[in-house]
Amino acid sequence: MTEFVFRSQSYLKTLDAVVTGIGEDGGISLDRTIFYAASGGQPNDTGRIIAGDRIVPVVNVVHPEGDKTRIAHLPAAESPAMSVGDRVTLELDWDKRHRLMRMHTALHLLSVVFPFPVTGGSIGEDKGRLDFDMPEVPENLAELEAKLNAMAAGNHAVSEEWITDDEMAANPGLIKTMKVKPPIGQGRVRLIRIGDVDLQPCGGTHVANTSEIGPLKLGKIEKKGAQNRRVALLFA
Ligand SMILES: [Zn+2]
Repeated sequence: MTEFVFRSQSYLKTLDAVVTGIGEDGGISLDRTIFYAASGGQPNDTGRIIAGDRIVPVVNVVHPEGDKTRIAHLPAAESPAMSVGDRVTLELDWDKRHRLMRMHTALHLLSVVFPFPVTGGSIGEDKGRLDFDMPEVPENLAELEAKLNAMAAGNHAVSEEWITDDEMAANPGLIKTMKVKPPIGQGRVRLIRIGDVDLQPCGGTHVANTSEIGPLKLGKIEKKGAQNRRVALLFA
C-alpha cells in the first residue's frame, strides 16, 4: 500500500520515502508519494527520485493494472537502478503541478457556471476542457466568463472531506460526471468543497483557495455529437 500524501498535502514539493517494490517494467513503488498518477482527466506528475548520487527522472506515474490503490513511478530510460529498501527523496516538477492544480480547480468552477451534466474532461498546464451534455450553447458567454472570474477571485477556501460509500449512494446529486464514476468500493469517497459554491467527488489535486487560480477566459465551444458541447478554458 502506498500512502497518497498529495491528497492531504497537495503543496508538498519534496518528501522522504522508502522503495517498496520494483515492477517488471521498472516501475518504482514507494511507501508514500507526492506524485499524482494520471487519473480523472488530470495528467501525471513528473520529477525525480533521489538516493544519494543516484538521480532517477520520473517520466510517468500510473496506477498499475488500473488499481487505484497503487502507484508506480516509471523512470527515464537508462536511469540508475533503485532497490527495495532504498531511502529516497522525492522531488516534484512543481511549476507544472501548480498550474495543473490551478486549472483543475478552475474546472470545478466551470461546472458551476455551466450547470449541465459533465460527460468528460481533461486538464492541461495552459488549457483545460469539460464536455457537457448541453444541447444549446448559452448566449450570455461574456456574462458567464465574468461570473467564473468573480468566483475565482472570490477567495473561496478549497477543502477535502470524506463520506462513506453509503452516504455517496444516498446523494447521487453530488455527481456531475456521467462517465467518470466516483471511486466507490474502498469504503469512503473523497469530496472537494469550494466554499459555498461547489461540492463534488474528486481524487485530484487542487489549490487551497480560488484566489490562486488567477484570471480565466473561455475558449472555443465545439460541438461533439448531438447533445455534447466541449468548453475550453484558458488562463487569461
Ligand atoms: Zn477535482
